[in-house]
Amino acid sequence: MAFTDHSDPHPSSRPASPDSTSGESEASRGVDRRAFLKRTALSSAALSMGLWGGDGATAAASVRPRADVQGEARNIIFLVVDGMSQGTLTMTDQLLQRHHDRTSHWVDLYREQAYDAKAFMDMTPLNSLVTGSAAAASSWGCGHRINNTMLNMDPDENPYRTICQIVRDAGKATGLVSTARITHATPAGFGINMPQRWMEDDIAAQYLEREYDLLMGGGARHFTAEGRDDNQDLTTAFADAGYRVLRSRSDLGEVASAEKALGLFFDSHLPYEIDRRRIDRLQRTVPSLAEMTEAALGRLNQHEEGFLLHVEGGRVDHGAHSNDTAGLLYDQVAFDETIATVLNFVADRDDTLLVVTTDHGNANPGLNAIGDRYEDSPAMFDRIADFRRSNEWIFRELDEDSAVDEIQERVAFACNLDISTGQASTLKQAMQGDFEAVYQPRSSPSAVLSAIQANYTAVNWTGSMHTSDYVPLVAMGPGSDTIGSFVRNTELFDLMVDTAGVRAHAEG
Ligand SMILES: [Zn+2]
Repeated sequence: MAFTDHSDPHPSSRPASPDSTSGESEASRGVDRRAFLKRTALSSAALSMGLWGGDGATAAASVRPRADVQGEARNIIFLVVDGMSQGTLTMTDQLLQRHHDRTSHWVDLYREQAYDAKAFMDMTPLNSLVTGSAAAASSWGCGHRINNTMLNMDPDENPYRTICQIVRDAGKATGLVSTARITHATPAGFGINMPQRWMEDDIAAQYLEREYDLLMGGGARHFTAEGRDDNQDLTTAFADAGYRVLRSRSDLGEVASAEKALGLFFDSHLPYEIDRRRIDRLQRTVPSLAEMTEAALGRLNQHEEGFLLHVEGGRVDHGAHSNDTAGLLYDQVAFDETIATVLNFVADRDDTLLVVTTDHGNANPGLNAIGDRYEDSPAMFDRIADFRRSNEWIFRELDEDSAVDEIQERVAFACNLDISTGQASTLKQAMQGDFEAVYQPRSSPSAVLSAIQANYTAVNWTGSMHTSDYVPLVAMGPGSDTIGSFVRNTELFDLMVDTAGVRAHAEG
């Protein structure tokens, strides 16, 4: 069996004594290390004999008992940036250092060792080595590995209870915030059961039934009569159910006094941060992720029994899918600012479990070595600081009939790059569907534009889809000291349930 579901116990990897979570002696660590080295030697011998196989995907997960953290957390804040590869985190820190006089708050947690736990996490879903956002969020949301594109259901469409339902039934407040449509896979993975993540009209309706306290992000089209396939006006239904419905950045002030709130700040996903910051109309009407998060914390923290808040930087994933370097990096910056907002909230408290992570890698961008002794790379990378728009903005006004010089002008305005006539012609070919790259996924217009840009920025990509990378995780607050250094995705569900002391509500 290649993948073991969470419900199968691993007695051998769950030490019976809670003592093993703390106060390890030097001597016992020495024994552990020797045992580890021995096992490594044995397994490499087995590998050379072709005997490797079985449960390798999960056997290494370090599950530890959670009984000692029972009910220690009043609040849980779960921050996810969607689709962040290692290169995204690295380049964002480098961009901030070179052009914004600061370092990444996320990377600073490492620099300052300001965490209670740091780990790699294995995000494997039930049916593949590469996860989608729905299965990834569901692994945290219900504690089970499930098939890609489903939301908190087993392959036969039997629902699992979600963390939002569990926490809600225990009397805590629940909030979901995203820069993607709020009906998108990641927020839905914390509180929705659906056979297909794409059933977003139904997801919006299920949110109404489940009465979560706060929903903020994009995706108005799945709530309005004009946008929904059934032409039902869900915003009125939400208002009738006691929700304050917010449609613009200036409405955010109302969240604090609202009993419940539904914030829908764009028809689909919120615009990329680089466009939001530079286009006046968007700046006025669309809040940043940090602003939504601050408003959410202000409201949820009034709740006597505490809260669960999930926040997603949703469009880093989209920037990666479309190889949109500036779209990607500035949305990562916006997520990083949100980390600062939340660190500010938890700074003086010891009752809040904070998790910061991503759900999978995506297209694995990186700054490549260029030039003699690689000395061209920094100046090439610096060109990204002169980008004024996302690639999404470039394509919005272009189509297969666009003239070559029109393509050049639009790229020049958005990126401050004078691409050649030959490069613009190739992009036109790609838009006409007449370009074929040796690696087929690199044939799309967005991949071709990014490959052209790579000649100027030295940032390039492996493809345009998710990757199987183990993801970084940092955590702090009650319960986080029980997180091992290699974590199975489903373990975070148990950590949340036990640390919040809501296990009694987990079985329905
Ligand atoms: Zn994705």
